[in-house]
Amino acid sequence: MAVLWLDEIGADDLESVGGKGASLGELTGAGLPVPPGFVVTAGTYREFIENAGIDEELFDAVEVDVEDSAALADAADHAQELIEETPFPEELREEILAAYHDVGTADEEAFVAVRSSATAEDLPDASFAGQQETFLNVTEDDLLDRVRRCWASLFTQRAIYYRQEQGFDHSAVNIAVVVQQMVDAEKSGVMFTSHPSTGDPTMIVEAAWGLGEAVVSGAVSPDNYVVDRADGEIDVTIADKKVKHVKDPETGETVEVDVDPDEREKRVLSDADVERLVELGERVESHYDTPQDVEWAMADGEDYMLQSRPITTISGPDDITDAAGSEGVTSVTDGSGGVESAGGELAGESVAPEGELLVDGLGSSPGRVAGPARLVTKLDDLDKVRQGDIIVTEMTTPDMVPAMKRAAGIVTDEGGMTSHAAIVSRELGVPAIVGTTNATTVLEDDQQITLDGDKGQVLAGKTVETDEETEPVEDVRPQSPVKPMTATEVKVNVSIPEAAERAAATGADGVGLLRTEHMILSLNRTPAKFIAEEGVDAYVDELVQGIRGVADEFYPRPVRVRTLDAPTDEFRQLEGGEDEPSEHNPMLGYRGIRRSLDRPDVFAHELEAFRRLYDLGYDNVEIMLPLVNDAEDVYRSKRLMEEAGIDPEKRTWGVMIETPASALGVEEMADAGIDFASFGTNDLTQYTLAVDRNNEHVADRFDELHPAVLRLIGDVIERCREHGVDTSICGQAGSKPEMVRFLVNEGISSISANIDAVRDVQHEVKRVEQKLLLDSVR
Ligand code: PEP
Ligand code: MG
Repeated sequence: MAVLWLDEIGADDLESVGGKGASLGELTGAGLPVPPGFVVTAGTYREFIENAGIDEELFDAVEVDVEDSAALADAADHAQELIEETPFPEELREEILAAYHDVGTADEEAFVAVRSSATAEDLPDASFAGQQETFLNVTEDDLLDRVRRCWASLFTQRAIYYRQEQGFDHSAVNIAVVVQQMVDAEKSGVMFTSHPSTGDPTMIVEAAWGLGEAVVSGAVSPDNYVVDRADGEIDVTIADKKVKHVKDPETGETVEVDVDPDEREKRVLSDADVERLVELGERVESHYDTPQDVEWAMADGEDYMLQSRPITTISGPDDITDAAGSEGVTSVTDGSGGVESAGGELAGESVAPEGELLVDGLGSSPGRVAGPARLVTKLDDLDKVRQGDIIVTEMTTPDMVPAMKRAAGIVTDEGGMTSHAAIVSRELGVPAIVGTTNATTVLEDDQQITLDGDKGQVLAGKTVETDEETEPVEDVRPQSPVKPMTATEVKVNVSIPEAAERAAATGADGVGLLRTEHMILSLNRTPAKFIAEEGVDAYVDELVQGIRGVADEFYPRPVRVRTLDAPTDEFRQLEGGEDEPSEHNPMLGYRGIRRSLDRPDVFAHELEAFRRLYDLGYDNVEIMLPLVNDAEDVYRSKRLMEEAGIDPEKRTWGVMIETPASALGVEEMADAGIDFASFGTNDLTQYTLAVDRNNEHVADRFDELHPAVLRLIGDVIERCREHGVDTSICGQAGSKPEMVRFLVNEGISSISANIDAVRDVQHEVKRVEQKLLLDSVR
């Protein structure tokens, strides 16, 4: 029998139908409303590869050095091709298609979901199953191909990598495939049958319009319904649901569409809907005798249960002994609030007691939050990061920004206070810790953790109150509502245009640094690739729109926009990155103004964006040149500005002081016509002290207040005052009170700080200015 129907399956069939199949079978058997379907068993997969005689070649192909990424990619391609190109034996084809026809009604072709279902015994951790392939709205034409692709998903790069890392035998791993009628949902979502961390009889339902993938993937913020099971009272928080996932009536594919304006802020579930869900939830919880995490859907007046798993509060031993027999490790909280593993303690592993210090690093964005750890590797699909997860990764990259926005917190192995993770998380207001060196090895996927972004510590379990948990550091203003008036201007740094509104709300006197590279990097293609594919105009448009969003938010306050300054290692991660030079030390390499002057044709497009902005009337936009070394760099840049139709005499422009050479040569640059010099202390410190700013091993030597750095800064301020050139700071150190005191005393013109530091810096500046005034009259 190649297939088993869901109503023939129970939890005992785990080995042949995998976790998902067993769970759905169990639910069907319990009389819960599961859409009909069947499972192509793990044994069928096995017979398929063995009868076709591809098994040995398959397992040989994946015996590679997984650290060699080219070899790993080749192995995955080879293995997947073997499976995908092997034809189905006639008998098997007929059996699967016959079962498929029984899923549909007589007169209508069924749309089915096809999902891989890992056999839990072999795959103790869901991540072993690789991409956990899922195909929606599949019809007869594609069915067999999709089944084969689920099988092939056992051999994604990631799946091979994990099995090898964990010492699992590739040939001992099997996979089943669930084929189940699609529910063309009008509403759907998830539900926790009890409170996920306290175990209280409080049901939490999340609901949005259309198919559930939108909720699960985080594409939409769902409504939230908290139901007290004791008295049925419902507490509703309605979200603005901008999009929904629906089946395209023409192609049958799942597509994302805008929600009708009058439905966006409308409640998805009526009280009656919620009551029915609560009843379903209670039935499934009592069936398993443990709280469940349920995916549900509603269509044509029917309620459906698509999946149910025990609530995974913390990660425990690598085995599965829960009643549902699904992937994941069960744990529930005991009455005293402590966390207890229902799986028992196997494999000698124990769960860290709540509050125990698991990992520490540099607290790079303040705030305390709790949530499940979500391990993200380079090969991962970022969709797995859900609202409220804490991302744990080696280092964040620009393509992670959408996931970082959904996350409650971020922890990285690598990086210092000026790394991508630190900069972006601060702007997003997401608590973060960088440079832990070992978070990705110590923390486990789904483990419940608390992140303290002030202390730089990750603790076991949930040790913050709900309020703290759901509302991280968003408030920029309230702590001190009155903006102090200061003679030294206090500005704000912006790296991602989406942060502009928050930045403007600080009452800052303008933007001291707008980093354009985040706009470019988020296109996910190198500028060269983007231009090749979309054309120059599209590229210039992207820049104009990105800058304009910020310039609008601040108008007429000045916005200092820096020309592109991305090191080649960041570009290399993008599409088209293979054409970037491979540099031994990108920090000393092809970046900033050096690159722009080397490729004036590309730089011209950036300058064109500035010219367009000026034509549009954005006279508050200023141009800042990164990583200049001397007046020669300045003269050459100025010429290119002129060639682009920008009058350097009319516009405000200047340089960053980021190298000792630029600090020592600032007078010549003043003669070349700069209006301002802004200290990029992140780079100035690394180049003065020879300390790589992104290297956590020398992070303790990264000292922006080092006397050598301060001496360079003090001298530049003095020279610039003599030449009537404004001075500013836009490096991270501008947010530090000690640096602020030093700079105001030296007579700097403005200070640009991080969003969350602006208010404190304003107060610090005011204090120093008043002291200077008092001293002068005493
Ligand atoms: C700096 O070097 O201080 C700076 C602000 O630029 P970035 O961090 O983008 O290199
Ligand atoms: Mg810099």
